[in-house]
Amino acid sequence: MKRYSAFAIAKEALRGHTGWGRAWRRAEPKKRYDVVIVGAGGHGLATAYYLGRNFGITNVAILEKGWLGGGNTGRNTTIIRSNYLQDPSAAIYEKSRSLYETLSQELNYNVMFSPRGVMMLAQTEHEVRGYQRTAHANALQEVKTEFIGPKRVKELCPIMNIDGPRYPVLGALWQDRAGTARHDAVAWGYARACSDMGMDIIQKCEVTGVRSAGGKVTGVATSQGEIACEKLGIVVAGHSGVLAEMAGFRLPLESVTLQALVSEPIKPVMDVVVMANTVHGYMSQSDKGEMVIGGGTDGANNYTQRGSFHHIEETVRALVETFPMVSRLKMLRQWGGIVDVTGDRSPILSKTPLENCFLNCGWGTGGFKAIPGSGWGMAELIAKGRSPLTDEFSMWRFGEGKFIDESVAAGVAH
Ligand SMILES: Cc1cc2nc3c(=O)[nH]c(=O)nc-3n(C[C@H](O)[C@H](O)[C@H](O)COP(=O)(O)OP(=O)(O)OC[C@H]3O[C@@H](n4cnc5c(N)ncnc54)[C@H](O)[C@@H]3O)c2cc1C
Repeated sequence: MKRYSAFAIAKEALRGHTGWGRAWRRAEPKKRYDVVIVGAGGHGLATAYYLGRNFGITNVAILEKGWLGGGNTGRNTTIIRSNYLQDPSAAIYEKSRSLYETLSQELNYNVMFSPRGVMMLAQTEHEVRGYQRTAHANALQEVKTEFIGPKRVKELCPIMNIDGPRYPVLGALWQDRAGTARHDAVAWGYARACSDMGMDIIQKCEVTGVRSAGGKVTGVATSQGEIACEKLGIVVAGHSGVLAEMAGFRLPLESVTLQALVSEPIKPVMDVVVMANTVHGYMSQSDKGEMVIGGGTDGANNYTQRGSFHHIEETVRALVETFPMVSRLKMLRQWGGIVDVTGDRSPILSKTPLENCFLNCGWGTGGFKAIPGSGWGMAELIAKGRSPLTDEFSMWRFGEGKFIDESVAAGVAH
């Protein structure tokens, strides 16, 4: 793989940019792999990358029914933060956030991590108490956050109307090293590094069946033929229930559409990320100048990637109350992704009823931020059978009553 560097750019500039190779190889499936990962989203690719990087396991295929990064990884609003309430969540999200700090250097690929700061507005007394509690929990977990008052909110984000008639801003949970990254670049960076280690990323390869014998996975049936494997990782976000059914077990998940939209590009107006959970809208400004806006989940379970129109109206109406300038913006694009939501709003990183089959799902509306940490933990789980990062996120916790309740920190928020 050609290393990206200022020197390489200068050299290529002199010869008309004719020497750049493909970022990843086009691979044909082999008959057998040590590990097959289903799903080339951020989590699947990161899992494969850390299998190679941390455990030297490189005979790996990543199977993707569409194109890599074309699922939720390429559809999200890119918010990265780690201000969750429960200890297991703080551990994996903060591991992830800290890996994001140096991910561009690690992958030799600019993922455009921008730790511009994220604030979660408190617009009811209930939220004030909830976020103050989270700030205290974060202090104990050594996650740097603080609860700030309305004056500081206004200083950090002057375009905000903090005296709204229904929901004045009473404060915010502020994390200054939280922010955003370029979502496609995260997938592309991991893909390039996986391919460089000799792993096969096979696109347009849909897994249609899971083969098993004696309580163990033996391989998968795909649209490009049968592929045998020693271990299987299922990392397919909104389609986890579908894959689990193929493998013969059920999951405590709902698949729903979550949508987002972007405005026309405008001059820089805000350099932080703001989440307003009560009125239900999220906003940041992209490097191109578009306002990136996140909405809510559809009320009905479904597998469309569109999202319903009433949510656009609700989201924009909610934001106009806190950001009056939004009323003068034209919206350019709207889209949806299928997210898999668990009852306690925490993910599942787990062994399964099949001995050598592992599951990574349930990140719901907020798994982009978790990609590096999840990949790190999932790789360890697959390679060694357990990981301190994933221990608490077993799929059996719902039967055992060991919920990791993140309804305040996650809820519908990103
Ligand atoms: C609108 C929206 C906004 C969001 N905003 C944020 C945010 O601001 N911050 C945040 O942290 N998170 C956010 N999220 C959530 C985040 O995007 C997801 O949690 C994360 O991207 C999940 O990554 P993944 O790799 O698990 O799934 P995906 O990226 O969806 O990858 C799964 C892949 O599996 C493939 N697949 C499915 N079935 C099969 C099969 N049978 N065979 C082969 N391949 C298959 C799919 O095609 C897909 O590419 C948002 C999500 C949406 C939809």
